[in-house]
Amino acid sequence: MSKIKFGPTGLGSVKDAVSNLEMFHDMGLEACEIAFTYGAYIKNKEDGLKIGKAAKKLGIFLSIHAPYYVNLNSKEDEKIEASKKRILKCCEVGNWLGAKRVVFHPGFYSGMESEEAAIKIREGIFEMKKVIEDKGWDVELCPEVMGKKNVFGSIDEVADLVNVTGCGFCIDIAHVLARYGKYEFEKIKDAFPQDEWHCHFSGIIYGDKGEKKHKVTEVDEWKKVLDFLKKLDKDVVIICESPDPVADSVVGKRIFSEM
Ligand SMILES: [Zn+2]
Repeated sequence: MSKIKFGPTGLGSVKDAVSNLEMFHDMGLEACEIAFTYGAYIKNKEDGLKIGKAAKKLGIFLSIHAPYYVNLNSKEDEKIEASKKRILKCCEVGNWLGAKRVVFHPGFYSGMESEEAAIKIREGIFEMKKVIEDKGWDVELCPEVMGKKNVFGSIDEVADLVNVTGCGFCIDIAHVLARYGKYEFEKIKDAFPQDEWHCHFSGIIYGDKGEKKHKVTEVDEWKKVLDFLKKLDKDVVIICESPDPVADSVVGKRIFSEM
C-alpha cells in the first residue's frame, strides 16, 4: 500500500510562511509546494533557511514550482538561457529550504516534432544538472506532465526525459485527464516505475485541446485517483492545485484515511 503526503500549492508570503506551515501541520497536512509562479520571491538566504527549518520540524515536505515563464525549446537562445536561469534560481533557493524537488513546465513544441523538441529540452536539463552538481545543491529537476495537447509534456515525453537525463518528474494527474480525456492509470504506472512519485491533482475543466482550468476536486474524482494510488506500493506526494488547495488537501487526506 502506498503512503501519501497531502498538501497545497502555495506557502504564502515570506512573512506568513512559518505560521502557514504551522497551520498546515495543525490541519494534518504533510506537504507544500511553494509557487514561484512569477519568480523566486524568497530572496534572502536566512529566510530560506528559517522556513526550511520550520518545515522540517513540522514534518512538512517542501517542493518548489518554478515560474511559468519558461521554455527550454524556444527558437530564441536567449529565452532558453533565461529559462534555465529562472529554474536554477529555484534550485538555489530550494537548497536553502531543503526543498528537494523543483517542478517546471518543460517547454513548447515551437513548431517541431516531439523528438526534435525532446532533444533540445534534454540538452537544457543536462546543462542545468551540471550546474546543480557543481554547486552541490541537493535538488532534483522535475519536468511536469502537461494538460494542454499543444504543449510538450505527454506522459511518454516526460518519462523519456527521466530515462535519458536521470531527472525527476511530476505527474499532474488532472493534466493527464485533460490531455487524454481519461486518467490513463495503467499508462502512468508503466511509464514511472520509480518508488517515489511527485503528483499534482485537482478537479479540472477541459476540452478538445486539453486543460482549460483547475476547479475544486469532486469527491468521486478524489476516490478514483486515490484508489489507484493506494494499490501501488509507493511514496507519494500529492500537491493539490485546486482554487481552494488547503481545504481540498484536507478533504483528500480524509477520503484516503477512510479507504
Ligand atoms: Zn505546473
